[in-house]
Amino acid sequence: MTLAPTLGTSSEWRPAPRSARAGKALDASPGTPVLEAHGISRTYPGTPPLTVLHPTDLAIAAGDQLAVVGPSGSGKSTLLSLLGTLDAPTSGQVFVDGRDVTTMSERERSAVRAGHLGFVFQQFHLLPTLDAVENVATGLLYSGVRHAVRRGRAVEALESVGLGHRLGHRPGQLSGGEQQRVAIARALVARPSVLFADEPTGALDSATGEAIVALLAEVAERGTAVVVVTHDPSVAARFARRVHLRDGVATEERPALTSTSGAQPR
Ligand code: ADP
Ligand code: MG
Repeated sequence: MTLAPTLGTSSEWRPAPRSARAGKALDASPGTPVLEAHGISRTYPGTPPLTVLHPTDLAIAAGDQLAVVGPSGSGKSTLLSLLGTLDAPTSGQVFVDGRDVTTMSERERSAVRAGHLGFVFQQFHLLPTLDAVENVATGLLYSGVRHAVRRGRAVEALESVGLGHRLGHRPGQLSGGEQQRVAIARALVARPSVLFADEPTGALDSATGEAIVALLAEVAERGTAVVVVTHDPSVAARFARRVHLRDGVATEERPALTSTSGAQPR
């Protein structure tokens, strides 16, 4: 395999075609970027200021399986927060399904997040008093969908992650792996274009973690782009695309041979 030059060469970046910018998530064909970062950087204020991410370009297509890997403190969560529109870049722009989120109001950005992006974290962040269905249905709270419909979609999402037999269980009645499946179902219930997962296997034993990684690969095969942050090279090795972070510089490792569409350099 070869190491490509850093992603931070803005000359590589091209805006999405107009049709893609206007399109909805479901229209995205393989190769059409669902998320694009153009020259994004992040400097935290302080004396001296701390630049955690130097200008970086990245394009993510429907069905991509991408791991962001690097040691603790290398800026992985920072990059994920920028791509996920949870944090604003110091410079650069982020496009979600062709729309520039960096110029939006926080309210518009929240709506884009709710409709287009899903999030999973190391700690599952489930509500302890709600059962699996109600936890997953919270992923549709801002969708304007009626409660009964939200519940139906939540059941479908739980079935799709292999938890159709645990619908009425509360988090305390579920194993760690099952709780993470509930969190993944909640992240998917609004049918996002991109699923972000920050150290999703960090709180799980290795066999359970393996199963979660396999589930995320299935999610990507169904068309949702999956972006996983991990400090664990063995987790990263399971993903077709790998971005390494070191000293604030993101470098994509490219397979030497042409691989599946999702892994092709672009
Ligand atoms: P990782 O997820 O790879 O462990 P992070 O993105 O969380 O790394 O953090 C990268 C670096 O940025 C760390 O040195 C961290 O201390 C620093 N950092 C993260 N968030 C902030 C913040 N809000 N203010 C200042 N420094 C921060
Ligand atoms: Mg982190």
